[in-house]
Amino acid sequence: MGLSILTLIYIIAAVTFIMGLKMMSNPASARNGNIVAGCGMVAAIFGTIFLYRNPDGNLLNNHLWIFIGLAVGAVIGIMAAKKIKMTAMPEMVSLFNGLGGASATLISVIEFNHLADQGFPDPLSSGSTMAIIFAGIILGNITFSGSVVAWGKLSGKVKDFAFKGQHIINLILLAACLGLAIFIGSDLHSSSTTILFYTLFALSLLYGIFFVLPIGGADMPVVISLLNSLSGLSAACGGFLYNNKVVFTGGILVGAAGTILTVLMCKAMNRSLLNVLIGSFGGGASSSADSEDGQYKEISLNDAAVIMSYANKVLIVPGYGLAVAQAQHACHELEKLLEAKGVQVKYAIHPVAGRMPGHMNVLLAEADVGYEKLLEMEQANDEFSTTDVVLILGANDVVNPAAKLDAGSPIYGMPILDVELAKNVIVNKRTMKPGYAGIQNSLFFRPKTSMLFGDAKKTLQSLAEEIKAL
Ligand code: NDP
Repeated sequence: MGLSILTLIYIIAAVTFIMGLKMMSNPASARNGNIVAGCGMVAAIFGTIFLYRNPDGNLLNNHLWIFIGLAVGAVIGIMAAKKIKMTAMPEMVSLFNGLGGASATLISVIEFNHLADQGFPDPLSSGSTMAIIFAGIILGNITFSGSVVAWGKLSGKVKDFAFKGQHIINLILLAACLGLAIFIGSDLHSSSTTILFYTLFALSLLYGIFFVLPIGGADMPVVISLLNSLSGLSAACGGFLYNNKVVFTGGILVGAAGTILTVLMCKAMNRSLLNVLIGSFGGGASSSADSEDGQYKEISLNDAAVIMSYANKVLIVPGYGLAVAQAQHACHELEKLLEAKGVQVKYAIHPVAGRMPGHMNVLLAEADVGYEKLLEMEQANDEFSTTDVVLILGANDVVNPAAKLDAGSPIYGMPILDVELAKNVIVNKRTMKPGYAGIQNSLFFRPKTSMLFGDAKKTLQSLAEEIKAL
């Protein structure tokens, strides 16, 4: 009876995961989607704790330890989630990915030692079980160490690091991990099995570090979505090992969603997945735009208010700076003011604007900006030529023409928002400093561009005042 109820709980949980994912594809239903999937996860956890029976037919008897672990994890998780600033969300997501990988690694290590203690009895240590243990170690460790480096890069604590021939070393490391796994599996009863197993452990950790370290700033979105996908696949290995269908389903769903996101990010950045895997893009390239020192012109708040108020169409390009300034509500206010004057206002969303996939969509949804006003990059690029004013709010790399013009630039090849097709371009940022990729932006020196310096929130509030006073 217990088992059938547990199976039913697992099926319901798997359905809630799928429903949750579906709901998360739309900002209007995303919050509820999170709650639905979360409820399924809680049911699966408590169902397992109280109803799971081991192969001998016994219920779990270590409830105290389980609840201590759950309580410690829940308190840390709730405190971290409450404390975290919206701008630090991408770092937190990276750490969560990494912890998912570390959990998968721990499961694999425990199960390996379990089998080693029993002297690798057949058929328990069959080829498929060992293959899953090795996959869990390799995927889990790459996810863990790669995510920790990604966290460091996103928070500015770790700098890009690349040396000549690094992608060759990466390829060798990856091949060594796979070769070692096959070698260990071919003779489990050898006296060096345990030592080789921990060598595999260390090599996969090292590969994770080497794979993420050289990735150039602007290319990080691809890596983050790939790590997300790997965290799901490594969790699925745990599901396989314990024959637990809900862990397996959850892992596969995260893995599949992450893989789709990775492919979309590769497309958005115009990069090949192979290059991501061997860590051979970005980072080391230098840009001739670095030394840009031309003249730029500034625009006053009053002039900006006038040209926007008398425009037919204004396209707003939000970027990371909008999130830093928490200016999404002020931006929505400006949009409403302009619309009241008969101006058509839309938003041009670059797929890697901000610091995490969907960052701008989440930010603008928080301020109740209508979803129908958000244009994807291709749609926006079709509309710029009929746009009177483009207002760039804290965006930089995603509008940098070096991506098209400068073959030496680390962002070369990345599709950008073609803001220069519009009649006027107003750029709001605080200084002339570069964006995340660390390269100067020649757009700021072009004849159509005017700089409107200041913090995005304060500038938008002042702009709104000017527009009201017109
Ligand atoms: P950028 O990082 O290129 O530029 C942001 C700009 O915002 C800066 O130039 C900064 O200039 C300005 N800024 C910062 N604070 C404020 C403020 N308070 N008010 C106004 N402006 C401010 O951002 P983009 O969104 O254009 O590009 C995203 C970059 O991040 C890309 O390179 C992308 O590849 C990378 N990335 C994206 C991820 C994703 O998944 N989306 C993940 C990891 C990296 P100043 O200091 O002068 O104000």
